[in-house]
Amino acid sequence: MPGRSRSCPGSTPRAEGGLYTSGVPVAQLPRAAAVTFSAAVLVILAGCGPGPEEPVTASPAEPSVQVSGEASPPDSVLVLAAGDADPEQVSGYSRLAERAVGQVEAVWGPNRVPRPVLVHVAGDAQTFAGLTGHPEDAADIPATTVGPAGQARVVIHPAAWGQLTEEGRLAVLTHEVAHLVQQVVPEGGSPEQAPPWLHEGLAEYTAHRGSGREPQQIAGTVLQEVDRVGPPGDWPDPEGYPDRWHGYALSWLACRYLADTYGEEQLLRVWSEVAGGVPTGTALRAVTEESERQLLTGWRRWLATLADEVG
Ligand SMILES: [Zn+2]
Repeated sequence: MPGRSRSCPGSTPRAEGGLYTSGVPVAQLPRAAAVTFSAAVLVILAGCGPGPEEPVTASPAEPSVQVSGEASPPDSVLVLAAGDADPEQVSGYSRLAERAVGQVEAVWGPNRVPRPVLVHVAGDAQTFAGLTGHPEDAADIPATTVGPAGQARVVIHPAAWGQLTEEGRLAVLTHEVAHLVQQVVPEGGSPEQAPPWLHEGLAEYTAHRGSGREPQQIAGTVLQEVDRVGPPGDWPDPEGYPDRWHGYALSWLACRYLADTYGEEQLLRVWSEVAGGVPTGTALRAVTEESERQLLTGWRRWLATLADEVG
C-alpha cells in the first residue's frame, strides 16, 4: 500500500557458533496488572499513532505502559513497555536502540534517522501478534517495524528477543532502524518500489556493517547450502525460503556484493534512485555502468567463490 510500510520482520541472524542466538530463552517481560497512564505516555502515543492496522494504545492484554526517554533531544529513542516491566530492562532497550541509531547513521549519514525512534516492547506474544499481525509463535521474528513513515514503530517479540545474544539484538534493532530511514523517500517515491532483496538486504547490510565480520562468519550455513546447490538464478526473495534467515542472508549478500564491488555510496545511491521511482535495472545501470544481468552474473560468481571457501 503506498505510503505505508510493509510490516517487516527483522531477520534472526543465526550466525554460526552462537554468534547471534544464545538458544537460551529468557522469561518474558511481566504483564502489566493495572492501568496507569501518565500524561507523558498519552502525549507520546498521540504523537506516534499506529498504522491503519496496528492498534498501539494499550490493549486489555497490556493495560499499562511505561516510557523510557524523553520526546525531545538528547534522547533519540522512546521505549514503551508494560507498566511493571523491569526499569533496568527498559533502560537496556533504550541504550541498545541508541546504539542502533548510531550504527544506522554511520552508514546513511548524520541525522538521517527520524526521531524519536519508538520501540514498543510487547509484554507478551499475544500483544506482539495484535500489534504486528504476525503469529504469536513467530519465534524467528524478534522485532518488526509497523506503521507508515512518521508513525512507524519497532515492535519487539519478547520470547524471540530473549533467544538472541547482545550482538544479535543490536543487529536486529539496527536492521529495523534502517527501515525507518528507508521510509523517508522523495515526494512521489515509496520504499515499496524497491525489490524486496534490496529493501531487506540493505537493512541487513546496515545491521552487519559495523561488526567487521566476514560473510563466512555471519552466513556460513547459507554459503554451505549455496556450495551444495549453487547460487540462486535470480536476485533472492527474502521471504522465499522455508528458513527465513536464508532469504535474508542471500539478500544481504547481494547488497554486500554491490558495496564491496562498486562502493557503499553507490549501493545507497541505487536505493535512493529506486525508492524514488526509478526502475531497478535503470538505477543499477546508472550507478554501476553494468546491466542488471551483468550484475546478477557477477554476484552469482562472487557468491560461488565465497561458498567454495566454506564448502
Ligand atoms: Zn526488514
